[in-house]
Amino acid sequence: MNKFEKLGLNEQLLMAIEDMGFETPSEVQEKAIPVLLANDTDMVSLAQTGTGKTAAFGFPLIQKINANDKTTQGLILSPTRELCLQITNELKNYAKYVKGLRVVAIYGGASITEQARDVKRGAQIIVATPGRMQDMINRRMVDITEIEYCVLDEADEMLNMGFYEDISSILSHTPKEKNTWLFSATMPREVATIAKKFMHSPEEITVGTKNSGTDTVQHEYYLVNGRERYLALKRLADANPDIFSVIFCRTKRDTQNVAEKLIEDGYNAAALHGDLSQNQRDMVMKAFRTRQIQMLVATDVAARGIDVDDITHVINYQLPDEIEIYNHRSGRTGRAGKSGISIVIVAKSELRKIKAIEKVLKKQFEAKKIPSSMEICEIQLYHLASKIKNTEINEEVNHYLPAINDVLRDIDREELIKKMVSVEFGRFFNYYKNAKDLNVNATGRDKAPAVDDIPGEGDVRYFINVGERDGYDWKSLKDFLRDTVDLDRDDIFKVDVKESFSFFNTNAAHTEIILQTFTDFKKDGRFVNIEISKNPGGSHKGRGRKRNGNKFSGPNKGFGKKGRKGRRR
Ligand code: ADP
Ligand code: MG
Repeated sequence: MNKFEKLGLNEQLLMAIEDMGFETPSEVQEKAIPVLLANDTDMVSLAQTGTGKTAAFGFPLIQKINANDKTTQGLILSPTRELCLQITNELKNYAKYVKGLRVVAIYGGASITEQARDVKRGAQIIVATPGRMQDMINRRMVDITEIEYCVLDEADEMLNMGFYEDISSILSHTPKEKNTWLFSATMPREVATIAKKFMHSPEEITVGTKNSGTDTVQHEYYLVNGRERYLALKRLADANPDIFSVIFCRTKRDTQNVAEKLIEDGYNAAALHGDLSQNQRDMVMKAFRTRQIQMLVATDVAARGIDVDDITHVINYQLPDEIEIYNHRSGRTGRAGKSGISIVIVAKSELRKIKAIEKVLKKQFEAKKIPSSMEICEIQLYHLASKIKNTEINEEVNHYLPAINDVLRDIDREELIKKMVSVEFGRFFNYYKNAKDLNVNATGRDKAPAVDDIPGEGDVRYFINVGERDGYDWKSLKDFLRDTVDLDRDDIFKVDVKESFSFFNTNAAHTEIILQTFTDFKKDGRFVNIEISKNPGGSHKGRGRKRNGNKFSGPNKGFGKKGRKGRRR
């Protein structure tokens, strides 16, 4: 029996699930769906972003609704227009085999009369932002007096955004006997208050530890001079040529400035903040989703709707004032079971904030060093080489080949390669040849215990010709190396996975066995090759590494893993 079937879902939903390619229920789905299907109950469900909450309430909601009756039976409140549209689309997908079921989205910034007309045609499920919902209730454009299910999605975000009054007022228009399902990534006091006020002995479901980030996210900080944040950002981008990231700034002005500088410096970047029109925002988000933009610089408020999978890095250009917000930021990566990195560019005066976050997250940051110029150049060179290798040949050039051959006649292959690489590489080399070290040492009272000044001599850095393209991330590459060479997880560190190659470090004691193991080593029919890299590697060991590797081996809360059976009450 299919794992979703076991949860009690009906045929129409199972068919849609198969179409979507979901194989295993996520933990929150496994816990919430059977309870919601079997009982008429209220529920409070806490799970990180990216854990599949939409289906956790969407599947049971669709199954419980009577599609033959046009009355509005379900209401989902969600904080932003983007999320509203996203949920609506997901639900439509889930319900594609359910005849007669209509899901309608209502949100600000679009024609209210059109939305009212849409609702009037019959909408068993309405997905709404609180502001627009309130507006439409006041104008008697919707009727929610007969709803049976109300979902508060991303409740913490809605309250953060000041929707408490709207939510209370909206709920006062709904019948008392309905069921309320609250979903949230975190449980601040305000959410607890809502739960107490509007719910009756709710079932409680918690996935992972309350208030802790997903285990798929690695947290790192880079200590720099406050004035050199931008330079540090640039180096981090250069050291990660395939970066796909959201960069968080505190103010609209900083957001705009950083984005403008990045664009000037030749990066695919854009700003996302509240001063943009809805139209501009849509365009930016579309470009980001389709990867035309690699670095999206955003304010916290504007980024609330961002729900893009595969983000490799979240970068805190500045730390937020509240720890909860850090949690939301870092939750933008490491989604759907993938791993991600949350980076903080931090000045000495802010180091104690890092400690405060560690306490709440119950996780350690790794103190890393901004890669040196030479290291970045090396990464860029390898990247360029693999880009050349993977470039599809444009047959149009055939026509010009004789002439080109003629020009390059006297140059042998080796020299030709050197020259080709130098063409592109010149830009980096010129920029970096005189670049200074941006790293700051934590000294005095603020000294971060995480920065230890162990000299690099004992460590060896390696280059290996497999990367993301081959299905690796830092976790799985580490596992692969450990299993193949028979090392401890802790023996391998500073693992840095790029698109088609990676770097890692070990102590020099392991170098011989590693090189030996990987002489003529084949995996899945192809040679896996390891070489010693010329550079010792960017980061010194953080304290994270010393902690029995705990940080790397936490339980996987992602998809595909069976969650604990039974439910917590
Ligand atoms: P959340 O609301 O918890 O942040 P979403 O519901 O937006 O998470 O889900 C995150 C991503 O995971 C979406 O792309 C969704 O389609 C996908 N997803 C959800 N459930 C599953 C599953 N059981 N198997 C595979 N992918 C899933
Ligand atoms: Mg969600």
